[in-house]
Amino acid sequence: MESEVLLITDRGRCIRCSSCASLAPGCFLVEEEGSRVIRQPASDDERSCCQEAVLNCPAQIIAII
Ligand code: SF4
Repeated sequence: MESEVLLITDRGRCIRCSSCASLAPGCFLVEEEGSRVIRQPASDDERSCCQEAVLNCPAQIIAII
């Protein structure tokens, strides 16, 4: 399936734990206002890291749609 998009659904609820940025450092950047997606995953490995980030986000605000 093509055109999956990694996104933060509700940045205001981010607790800035940095789990996402640790799991997929090329795709997330944690800023003062919360984490944001800086780049879409570019390889299967990176996609898999982003899926881990979805599962491990304590605020459950990362999605791949
Ligand atoms: S894992 Fe979730 S709560 Fe933690 S910094 Fe990333 S988006 Fe925010």
